[in-house]
Amino acid sequence: MNKPMCEQDILNYFDDAIKNGHIYALYQPKINHATGRMIGAEALMRWTQPGFGVQFPSDFIPLLEKNDLIYRADLHLFESVCKFLRECIDNGIKPVPISVNMSRYDIYRRDYADQIEKLRIKYDIPVKYIHVEVTETSAIGGMELISNVLNKLHNFGYIVEMDDFGSGYSSLNVLKDLEVDIIKLDMRFLSGDIGGRGGTIISAIVQMAKWLGTPVIAEGVETVEQADFMKSIGCKYVQGYLYSKPLPPEEFCNKLSMREHEPLKPAMALIRHMDAGKFWDPDSMETLIFNNFVGGAAIFTYQEGRIEILRVNKKYVNEIGMNMMEQDVLSCDPMKTFAKDKYRKRYEETLHRAIESGSEESCYTWRKVCSKTCGEETICIRSYIRMIGKTDTQYLFYAMVQNITSEKQQSLQFKEDERRFKNAFEQINVYAWEYIIATKQMRPCFRCMRDLNLPPLVENYPDSAIEVGIFPPDYADLYREWIRKLDCGEVDTIEGIIPLTVGRVPFHVRYTLERDENGAPLKAYGSAALVVDPQSEPS
Ligand code: C2E
Ligand code: CA
Ligand code: CA
Repeated sequence: MNKPMCEQDILNYFDDAIKNGHIYALYQPKINHATGRMIGAEALMRWTQPGFGVQFPSDFIPLLEKNDLIYRADLHLFESVCKFLRECIDNGIKPVPISVNMSRYDIYRRDYADQIEKLRIKYDIPVKYIHVEVTETSAIGGMELISNVLNKLHNFGYIVEMDDFGSGYSSLNVLKDLEVDIIKLDMRFLSGDIGGRGGTIISAIVQMAKWLGTPVIAEGVETVEQADFMKSIGCKYVQGYLYSKPLPPEEFCNKLSMREHEPLKPAMALIRHMDAGKFWDPDSMETLIFNNFVGGAAIFTYQEGRIEILRVNKKYVNEIGMNMMEQDVLSCDPMKTFAKDKYRKRYEETLHRAIESGSEESCYTWRKVCSKTCGEETICIRSYIRMIGKTDTQYLFYAMVQNITSEKQQSLQFKEDERRFKNAFEQINVYAWEYIIATKQMRPCFRCMRDLNLPPLVENYPDSAIEVGIFPPDYADLYREWIRKLDCGEVDTIEGIIPLTVGRVPFHVRYTLERDENGAPLKAYGSAALVVDPQSEPS
């Protein structure tokens, strides 16, 4: 049975507990949810006092902090971790990096970093096997103190993890000013609802961390849904009851020797064209501009054929339309939205052009977009794309978008009309053309072009057509006279039978004049239909 210890008990038993190992570490694995492999573990303090049973950190750590004992407790725990790692190494078991928690009160003891470094050297543990977790509340004591400690730790070669990120104390600013290597995001701070606001905040943080080039570990992950959600937004590292509770050293050691493990992939630094810190600072000029003074815009990364949208502004969401939520946009894989493979190719080609030219490139693509309220729709997006940063393998792009669906649909409709028109003429054996009076140009239909071998635009009409023999010479004067009457608007229609084509087949030729608003002649529409001899019709 566990009995709580009061403050006096803690003071009375502390020295003895340190000496006799009543204060010790449990190990909770950190897992890559994409592969199921262990990438590290966190050492968590426990105190099992005879007569009282197991005590949890929430019961005794605040009291140790209050009584200036946490420094000793933390160094004691650090030493246990070193001993554990030494045993693993000596027994041929490959360890994973173990992170130890540093209290914010340890920061006031200026030699904390030197002390742990002494212990590490004493047990001869490669520095890569130890990480240090600091909380953002450590910054409360002043940026300078914490910065100095982090510098020291980094100089010794320790990886530093920012614990409980997002739990308060102006997280964004802390992150901007403190150089941490890994961010730990506690799911429990972001109350339950991953589909709503909580999810939006988490995914914004993960995206931002990516932009800063910092890997994220989600902790307090209890369900597969939570882990899958985190993976879907680009955070595959998880720690929590879903995979394992904190384990006693023997049990954890078994896990280590049984399971394959893998290193946490370090994130790479972007070669920046823009100041990343400013860009993510909600109060910066850059953010103000992005949100208010540009049209629909998105920032995304491109790597080996994969696109990941990091950020969109409100106008982008409006431009896409369909009542989309920002979350819908951020969570969808843009490569899967192209309506046809040729649009995906076109888009990627444009990205490559933008990489090569370093200036703005544009293209349009049809996309199939799905939203909760509108279902699936096909829309056409024109994108103006510019590369704004790159690493060895990854590119960062800025894209302005315009929804040009209705314009495209209209022009498609127009093309469709034209196609039908052509087909209709094809069916009824009619040749058609238009004659533009002011310029003496003639625009033939598709059939005219094919059967009479005409170019799309015939200049100097009708003389040029007469010259090439489309009209028999004895009809030339009659035909010139028709055109003259149309030119000066003497008639509105004119028609007659003229033998045409090489075979001199009789055609019924007819013109209709079009005038402008003042009645002046503009165009004449000509048509020629084969004269069908009733006697030759089959009866
Ligand atoms: P923490 O560093 O955020 O540690 C994670 C806490 O969440 C641990 O509680 C762990 O047991 C618990 N946890 C892990 N997975 C889950 C989960 O899926 N669901 C839930 N509900 N909880 C989960 P624990 O061990 O009670 O530690 C509490 C806090 O005490 C730690 O929070 C840390 O701030 C502090 N602490 C623990 N060990 C040390 C230490 O050695 N030194 C210092 N200074 N602080 C420590
Ligand atoms: Ca921690
Ligand atoms: Ca934590």
